Amino acid sequence: MTFAHDLLGLLLPVGCAGCGTDDVAWCPRCAARLAGPPWRCEDRAPRLDRLDGSVPVPVWTLADCTGDVRRAIVAWKDRGRLDLTRPFAGAARRAAATLAGQLGAAVLVVPAPSTAASRRRRGVDLAGALAGAVAGGLADAGLPAELAPVLVRAGGRDQVGLGARDRARNLAGQVRVPTSRAPRLRGRAVLLVDDVLTTGATLAASRSALERAGAHVVGGFTLASTPGPAVTVQLPAARRVSTG
Ligand SMILES: [Zn+2]
Repeated sequence: MTFAHDLLGLLLPVGCAGCGTDDVAWCPRCAARLAGPPWRCEDRAPRLDRLDGSVPVPVWTLADCTGDVRRAIVAWKDRGRLDLTRPFAGAARRAAATLAGQLGAAVLVVPAPSTAASRRRRGVDLAGALAGAVAGGLADAGLPAELAPVLVRAGGRDQVGLGARDRARNLAGQVRVPTSRAPRLRGRAVLLVDDVLTTGATLAASRSALERAGAHVVGGFTLASTPGPAVTVQLPAARRVSTG
């Protein structure tokens, strides 16, 4: 991908954001990758284990963040493909409806915070759009659920291009609940929502901030999840092959 190619994509009619099929923004084959039931992915995220020894909360997701799904999410977040918000939100809403039974009681649905700079660059709060859809899906299934964008993230670099350790460091102390929003959270169950689970640093920092404000985080939901670190297999000829 070159800059010129990216620029053309903004100016001309574009194909499927995943596989490139012409004349459709998000083709049925790519959509099918987000259409299955949600599954648990928290074991993949090393940074969800917190220093205080508390166990990771369940995190549900819809797809591996690989191949066509990864291309589409990158296009959505960083290449202006906001036409994907509707199908992605639709997938999140349908999936959330199946989670209502597992959550059990009323929840606040809280989007992961973005920096003001990334919201300006994208023109929209993507995690907020997903969280609204998740709240809608839970409500569809009869669970009282309310969108609650209570987290803010100040300063710091965008997370793009940072490794696990740097992401955690970048986030430390930057995610917080403004004092004026804290009363809404006291004693409430919270489901956190983000676009992709990578290292878990964002969800862990969000969970800490919410729990300091008196909420109880019962789980997380992301559209996709990055598979864990590649497993290196030692072959007899001493060649290394990366998998997964
Ligand atoms: Zn496609």
